[in-house]
Order: sequence, then structure tokens, then C-alpha cells
Amino acid sequence: MNKRKKIYEGKAKILYETSDKNILIQHFKDDATAYNNLKKAKVEGKGVLNNRISEYILSSLSDCGIKTHLIKRTNMREQLIHKAEIFPIEFIIRNIATGSLTKRLGVTEGTTLDRPLLEYCLKNDELNDPIISKEHILNFNWASEEDIKQIDKMSLRINDLLLGIFRAIGIKLVDFKLEYGKTYNKNEDKYEIVLADEISPDTCRLWDVKTEKKLDKDRFRKDLGNIIEAYQEVARRLGIMPEETNIKEVNFNKKLSIKFKKR
Ligand code: 5GP
Repeated sequence: MNKRKKIYEGKAKILYETSDKNILIQHFKDDATAYNNLKKAKVEGKGVLNNRISEYILSSLSDCGIKTHLIKRTNMREQLIHKAEIFPIEFIIRNIATGSLTKRLGVTEGTTLDRPLLEYCLKNDELNDPIISKEHILNFNWASEEDIKQIDKMSLRINDLLLGIFRAIGIKLVDFKLEYGKTYNKNEDKYEIVLADEISPDTCRLWDVKTEKKLDKDRFRKDLGNIIEAYQEVARRLGIMPEETNIKEVNFNKKLSIKFKKR
């Protein structure tokens, strides 16, 4: 499908139109940003890894009945997705207290939460994505009560599935961010809520079960180094990196030519 006009460029991704008005191309960039763009860098290979990891996770969720915007990955950096009207909300799900939760509420870092905690943030860079309540969402019509009810249910189901996927490969799913949108389902002639955006080490906190080593974007945020190695480690454990790859010795640019294993 031919790439047409760029319709959106965000911090880590670009969206292009295609010849079908209901289908977009989602392109994963190597740009990393943190603290609302105050910290920026190019992390070579990050886009390729996030494209592959997110494809794997969204396909796995889809296999379990979660509706997503993903149609298919088309190349190393791109996916075809259903066009969706995105809710202006970041949906955060937490299993362990860290990050902004501990800063905001003084909860002890690393506390395992009794049950998953759902939070909502307004997607607004100028305001620093402030935390909001359901009352704000309903009052300002950012989503309906029915939408939020359905999304909360989907988020908890996704959390259950992801906890299992990551636990099986020795990784604790600490917290993550989801985005949702509404798309038109031609076959069923109705609008439906779909999981949108991406799920990758850019949008999750992932800690090794034994060592608690961070395998996610906190390596960039906190200057811990070896960002690509951590993302590759996640891909390798998920079984979607070539077995023979030695992340320490092989130059990542060379590895880009190695085909990913089929799921
Ligand atoms: P926190 O609120 O503790 O900073 O983040 C909670 C979780 O949501 C983390 O896994 C973090 O990666 C993710 N998250 C929150 N906001 C954003 C965002 O604007 N971009 C990305 N990529 N992830 C986010």
C-alpha cells in the first residue's frame, strides 16, 4: 500500500495516509524523548525493535480477543493500522509503585499493589500530561461513561494477559501506558473501541524478576545506559530475535539486516 501524506508526527512515531482512507501507516522512529521533550536523543535501532515487539504483543492480545488497531507489520519500521479517533487520554495501569505514583503520593518505591491501579492522564504536552479523574473525563466529554467502563475492563484484561506473557520470560510488568481509539468496523457496521498506539519497552516498565534490572525506557530517562541491549533482551526473551545474535559483540546496524524469526 503506497505511503501518502504525513498526517501526524509525534515523539516516537509518524502516521501516513494510504490510498484507503480508513488505513494508515504507523512508522517507528529511533527518537527517544523524556520529561516532556526536555531530554532527546536518537537511539539507533529502537524503532525497529519497538515495531517488532509491539507487533508481537498486539497480535498476542488480538489472539485473546482484544480488538486492536493493528492490521500487520509491513517492514522493519512500519505497520498498517486501522485509522482511529484517539481518546485524548493516556490510560496508565500499575502493578508495582514507582515513577510518578511514588513522587505524587509518597508511596514506598517498589511496593506491590494489592490490585492493579488504573489512572487517567490528559494527553497534553503543554500541560505535562496531568493526571485527571473520571469526573474530568465525563465533564469535558473526553469520553463517555460507557466508553470508560469498556476501556477499564479492556485495560484490566490486557494487564492480566501481559502479566502472564512477561512473567513467563522472567520479567515483572511494573506499569504501562495504553491508548485507545474508536474505529468504524465495516463488517459489523458499527464504531468500536480498539487498543491503539504501541506496547513496547517505551511504554512499559519491565524489570527482570531476579535482579530487578530495568529493561525499558527508564534506562534512557535515568541515564542507565545500554538502552538498545535492554530492548533486545526483551525481544530475545519473547523469542522474536535471532538466537545466534550476540548483543555484546555484534554491531546493531549489521543486525538490522538479520530477518526476525517468524512467530
Ligand atoms: P509514570 O506516570 O510513572 O511516569 O509512567 C507510568 C507508565 O506509563 C510507565 O510505564 C511509562 O513508561 C508510561 N507512560 C506514561 N506517560 C507516558 C508517555 O507520555 N509516553 C510513554 N512512552 N510512556 C508513558
